[in-house]
Amino acid sequence: MSTTESAIASAEAHSAHNYHPLPIVVASADGAWMTDVEGRRYLDMLAGYSALNFGHANRRLIDAAKAQLERVTLTSRAFHHDRFADFCTRLAELCGMEMVLPMNTGAEAVETAVKTARKWGYQVKGVPDGMAKIIVAANNFHGRTTTIVSFSTDAEARADFGPYTPGFEIVPFGDLTAMDAAMTENTVAVLLEPIQGEAGVLMPPAGYLAGVRELTRQRNVLFIADEIQSGLGRTGKTFACEHEGVVPDMYVLGKALGGGVVPVSAVVSSAGILGVYRPGEHGSTFGGNPLACAVALEVIAMLRTGEFQQRAAELGDHLHHELGVLAGGGAVETVRGRGLWAGLDIVPSHGTGREISERLMDRGVLVKDTHGSTIRLAPPLVISKEDLDWGLDQLRAVLAD
Ligand SMILES: *Cc1c(COP(=O)(O)O)cnc(C)c1O
Repeated sequence: MSTTESAIASAEAHSAHNYHPLPIVVASADGAWMTDVEGRRYLDMLAGYSALNFGHANRRLIDAAKAQLERVTLTSRAFHHDRFADFCTRLAELCGMEMVLPMNTGAEAVETAVKTARKWGYQVKGVPDGMAKIIVAANNFHGRTTTIVSFSTDAEARADFGPYTPGFEIVPFGDLTAMDAAMTENTVAVLLEPIQGEAGVLMPPAGYLAGVRELTRQRNVLFIADEIQSGLGRTGKTFACEHEGVVPDMYVLGKALGGGVVPVSAVVSSAGILGVYRPGEHGSTFGGNPLACAVALEVIAMLRTGEFQQRAAELGDHLHHELGVLAGGGAVETVRGRGLWAGLDIVPSHGTGREISERLMDRGVLVKDTHGSTIRLAPPLVISKEDLDWGLDQLRAVLAD
C-alpha cells in the first residue's frame, strides 16, 4: 500500500464516516498550493470553504499567531485580556456596527444569533413568551447543531436527528411574497445567507436582499445575514449584502475570520440588540480567546485595506468571464456566483460532480462537489492570475475528456 492508501485506510477505520473526502492526504501548504504526503502539488480551489481567503501559511497571520502563542493563549472570559477590546472594537468598525459577541465555530455563531433574536423578541419587541418565530430560506446551510438542522431542508443533514427545535418557518429563497405572507407579530427575525453557498452558490434575484431589508424594517423584524462563507472579501466586497446596498441588523461571521489558523466566529450587531444579554446568559470557554483575537485582528487589518476585496472583484470578473465562455461549450449547464466564488452545474453526461472533482484532482486541482452535479470554485483570494488560469485550463481539459 502507498503512504496515501494506508493513511486513508486508517482514517476510514478510526474516524466516523461523516465526510467523503477526495483521496488525497495533505502534508503541507503555502498560498494557494497544497503538497501531499507523496510530494505531489495541488492548486487549492476550495480554500477550506472560504476559511482560507488569505491563503495557506499567510505570513502576517502566522507571525501574529506565533507572537501570541508566546504570550498568552487562553484566559476564559472570567478575566479580561489585552487583545479582547481591540478585537471587538475593530470588528464592530469593519462591520459598521457597535457590538460583538465572539464564539468559535460558525454553527455556534448562528446559534448565538438565534438566541439573540429570540431574547430581543421577548424583551424589546414584546413577543409573548415561547412564541418567537424565525423565518429561514429553503436550501439554507447554517451549520450542524440539532437546532440548526431542525430548519434545514436537506434530508441528509436532517433525517434521524429529531426531535426538532420548533420556532422556524421555511420560505423559498428569493420569494418576497412568501416571506411577507409568513410574517406575523411573533416573527422576530429573518435568517438568510445572502448567497447560498452549500446549496451550490445560489444567487438571489436582483433586489431580493433590499426587499428583505425593507420588509423586515416595516415589520420590526431583525434581518440576520449569515455571511460566514460569503463575507470577508469572497464576493469582491467585505460583505455580500453590500452588493445591494443592504445593511442587516446582525452579521454572523466565521470561517475566514480565523484566517484558516484558528476557529473564530462572531455575531456583530447594534447595542440595542446585543445589549439584551446579562452575565451568565450566554457564553463560550474559548470564545474571544487571546490567540483567536490576535489572529482575527490581523485578518481585520488586512480587510481594512480593501486590497483583498478588490483582488476578489478583479480576479472574479476574469473567472466569471472564462466560466461564461466555458458554459457556452456544452459541458456546463449553468454558472453562478460573484467575485472569486462560483457554482457550476455540469451536464450529467460529462460525469457527476464527484467524478469531475476526482479527475481535477488527478490533474492537480482541488475542488469539491455539492448536490450531485454541481462543483464549487472558491480559490484563496491571494491566488495569482497565472495559477487561476492554469486551474481553469485543467477544468477545460477535464470537461473536454
Ligand atoms: C460553514 C458555514 C456555517 C457553519 O460553520 P461551521 O464553522 O462549520 O460550524 C454556517 N453558515 C454558513 C453560511 C456556512 O458556510
